[in-house]
Amino acid sequence: MRQVYLDYSATTPVKEEVLSAMLPYFTEKFGNPSSLYSQGLEAKAALDQARAQVAKLIHADPKEIYFTGCGSEADNWAVFGAAQALKDKGNHIITTRIEHHAMLHSCAFLEKNGYEVTYLDVQPDGLVDPAELEKAITDKTILISVMMVNNEVGTVEPIKELAAIAKKHGILFHTDAVQALANVPIDVKDLGVDLMSMSAHKIYGPKGVGALYMRKGLRIANYLHGGAQEMGRRAGTENLASIIGFGKAAELAEANMEKHISHCKELRDYLIERVTSEIPDTFVNGTMEHRHPGNANITFKYIEGESILLLLDYKGIAVSTGSACSSKSLEPSHVLTALGVPVEMIHGTVRFTVGDFTTKEDIDYVIESLKEIVAKLRALSPVNGEKGW
Ligand SMILES: *Cc1c(COP(=O)(O)O)cnc(C)c1O
Repeated sequence: MRQVYLDYSATTPVKEEVLSAMLPYFTEKFGNPSSLYSQGLEAKAALDQARAQVAKLIHADPKEIYFTGCGSEADNWAVFGAAQALKDKGNHIITTRIEHHAMLHSCAFLEKNGYEVTYLDVQPDGLVDPAELEKAITDKTILISVMMVNNEVGTVEPIKELAAIAKKHGILFHTDAVQALANVPIDVKDLGVDLMSMSAHKIYGPKGVGALYMRKGLRIANYLHGGAQEMGRRAGTENLASIIGFGKAAELAEANMEKHISHCKELRDYLIERVTSEIPDTFVNGTMEHRHPGNANITFKYIEGESILLLLDYKGIAVSTGSACSSKSLEPSHVLTALGVPVEMIHGTVRFTVGDFTTKEDIDYVIESLKEIVAKLRALSPVNGEKGW
């Protein structure tokens, strides 16, 4: 059976070149970067090279890149590190309703510990209104965190404008760029962000490694305490092989960015065009204008996204509903809720995300399968057409 993977926003396969770069670091190049003899020095040099590769992808200085255990850790570190370091200045944090759970649950934890958090609404197209951010700022605000690209609907937020507002008020600005990395060009200096989270497994690197960009001169509280790794800011012997893989993935992403973006956009637009024109009662969520090149978030009225997912899985096709994390529960997606999508339509929503290994034939197969599945489910659906939604 044909296998079609359309869930690149959940994770990506490790590219061949990335794996070959990593392998020697499990075996013959197993040295600890903190050791002072040759093997250690070689490991340290490889670590520095990976740091430079990640830095180059976002136009940062290598000294501004701190490797972490994942994108979630980078988000946690940014929020808790800033909250701790600035607790004498204030206790108010501003974020949005559409953030990843790594951010939302960190903020919820802080709320239980004396901090106040404002969750900004988004407009129906999924974008944050900069005027709303400005209104939410108080003299107690110490951190603003807005994600660069949303993982469910793919909206690309106006980070440069939002960061400028933070700067005007002397407030730290963090952005979760896990979905943005390699999918939109990023220049941290031009954007004016202070802190930025990244993850390797969303850009064809290995799982279990991420990074936090921290602007030169900025100091937030450390999150992992122990040895002097990561310039004394993040303890623990480095996950060297994975970090090497992250570096290689970043190098490839930089070299292939234009090709990657146009390839994804072409297939994504083809998928959206065919679904919305050939399957009645379907619509796309989130702005098309400022959007992740591979994201198609589509509602199929009158049916359950979970049923579509399962029937697609029988045909070898992998997609997700709402967000990957909430797909095991019946909780409607917090992102689609924030966009104002009615709850019954949220349940009929599927996220398709294409990537470098997706082909036009894959999309044709998905469309043919979808047409059959949607017709079958709608024929069974008791609410088909009757409720007027
Ligand atoms: C995947 C993802 C994360 C978490 O990254 P991990 O490396 O899986 O912990 C955080 N934020 C966004 C937007 C993501 O898509």
